[in-house]
This record gives sequence, C-alpha cells and structure tokens, in this order.
Amino acid sequence: MIDLRSDTVTTPTATMKKAMSNAKVGDDVYGDDPTVTELEKLAAEKLGFESALFAPSGTQTNLIALLTHCQRGDEYIVGQQAHTYKYEGGGAAVFGSIQPQPIDAREDGTLALESIEAVIKPDDPHFARSRLLAIENTYHGRALPMEYLPAVRELADSKQLILHLDGARVFNAAVHHGVDVKQIGAHFDSVSVCLSKGLCAPVGSVLCGGAEFILQARRWRKMLGGGMRQAGYIAAAGVVALNENIDRLQFDHDHARALFEGLRDIEELHMTEECVQTNMVFLKCGKRVATELAAYLGARKIYISAGETVRLVLHKDVTIEDVIQVTSECKKFFKAS
Ligand SMILES: *Cc1c(COP(=O)(O)O)cnc(C)c1O
Repeated sequence: MIDLRSDTVTTPTATMKKAMSNAKVGDDVYGDDPTVTELEKLAAEKLGFESALFAPSGTQTNLIALLTHCQRGDEYIVGQQAHTYKYEGGGAAVFGSIQPQPIDAREDGTLALESIEAVIKPDDPHFARSRLLAIENTYHGRALPMEYLPAVRELADSKQLILHLDGARVFNAAVHHGVDVKQIGAHFDSVSVCLSKGLCAPVGSVLCGGAEFILQARRWRKMLGGGMRQAGYIAAAGVVALNENIDRLQFDHDHARALFEGLRDIEELHMTEECVQTNMVFLKCGKRVATELAAYLGARKIYISAGETVRLVLHKDVTIEDVIQVTSECKKFFKAS
C-alpha cells in the first residue's frame, strides 16, 4: 500500500519505538515527566525560544497560542486557506471569542503586506481589536521566501500586532531554504510545530515562545484537556523526531521532485513548476478526473485524497520505488481514459 494522502500517516521509526518503550516517565501535569521536559527544552532550543509546551496536536497548539495571545473581542488576521482559520473547526471563535479576519494569500503563500494593512482596524468601538497576525510556513507546501519574514515582522511591529507562526511543517521550509530553523523562528512571537508529520512521531506538537507566554499557555492546555500524565512515552518519539528526522525531510522533497518529473509529461495534468513544493505535488485535473483517478489508484492500493486540487504528499513511508509505481499507474490511467 502507498499512502499519499498526508505525511501524518507516517509510522514511527524503529529508533522511536525503542525510545518510547525505554522512556523515563512521570506525571507531566505535576511537571515531573523528564522526557516531556527534555522534549520541551530541545524544541525551544532548536527553534530559538526560551520555552516550549508539548500538546497532543497542532490544532491544540495553535488554539492555545491564540487563546494565550488574544482576549475576547480581539481579532486575528490569517490566510483564507490557512489551517488555523479553515481547518480547526473555528476553535479560536468558539473557545476564545476571537474573531478571525481572513485574507487571500498570494500564489507564493505569503499574505501581501498591503492586504494585511488594509484590514487592520482603527481603535474604535465599532471594531474588533486587531491583535495578532497568523502566518503559515510551509503554506500548502510552499516555503515562504526568507526575505518575507523580516518584512512581515516589521509590519507587525509598526502596527503592534503579535506574530504567530503555524509552523506545522516549518522544518520542511528550513530544509528547503537550507537554513537553520532558528532563522525562521527568530521573526515570530510564537511558533507551533508538528512532530507527527514528516518528522514521523506518532502523536504531538510543540508550541514555542517566551517563558511567561508558555507559563500562561500551560494553563490553557490544561483547560483544553491537553494535560497528559505519563506523556513521556509519546514525547520520547518527539525527541527522536527533532534529533534524527529533520535532515531526512530532504528525501521527501527529492521524492516529490521525482514524482513531479514522472508526471509532467501527462498532458491532462497541465503540470508546471508551481506543482511541486517541498514534500507535496499538486495535480490540477479538476474534481471529476481526480475522483476517477483516486478510484483507479485506490483499486491498486495507492491512496490519494481527491478534491478540487489533488495534493500528493511524500513522507518516510513512500520510497523511490513507490514513486516510480505511482508514476506508471498514473500514466496507464491517463492513457486509458
Ligand atoms: C497538520 C497541520 C496542523 C495541525 O494539525 P493536527 O492534525 O491537529 O496536528 C496545523 N497547521 C497546518 C498547516 C497543518 O498542516
């Protein structure tokens, strides 16, 4: 079976399983699980922050960040297709009475500075208080240009906006640009990172920020039910993820490129350079063809999720042989249809 639906489907590595079974644990709600503490320290250090917090999911770390940074009646500016806005059940509005202000992203995944400025509300009782700007990197597989980050930081500073990064795949962005992830983290007040995607941990995300921010975030995590007891068993996999699995993301990017090269001759797919981004390949064949393709591949134990655009996601459990097989099955499908 070849599963290209998401990099969340990765199974833990052998090293992870060993680390998990040997983990030293305690009760993390009492603050005495040494493995969770180790993971939080490691994450803070890697991303260049004072402190970090381990939580069960990226949805929760993003929500915790918004609840900690914002008050009831505040507003956050966010991409129209951003995970924090579109794919997290409206949590910030539901639990925090924080109003989202979505804006369209540009083709390169950035939010134009003038579009951000245009929606910042004046201090007037008619309006919600514009409080935070949420950026996503990578955004739909796109690693935001490095020069965008100081520019957006400068805008946030000049408008007194807090800057949060949904860095679910921030390590893919760092690997793509060949930079230390700290160079990305440095521009933000807080960063959420998923350990359970290309980094292969079974469960978990970390939220990085200042010491005082993380202290408050810890209270929100408890309220949301994210305080876990012997969480060291899963944090142990997170430690391995951060120590051993960052460089391997390059393989996923290379495999995405190989898949793109294999598919680019298929006329019906209209492949352009924009279709390959970090560990993802996008097909623009329309929903009807996508649904038929998904059914054809599914019958051959190759799983993709078909929507308006099809996103094929490369990860540890997809080998170069798998890429070749997927390419050849796609070619057969389009030749026959
Ligand atoms: C996966 C993801 C998250 C968090 O997802 P969880 O499944 O809740 O861990 C957040 N933002 C982006 C961009 C993501 O891809």
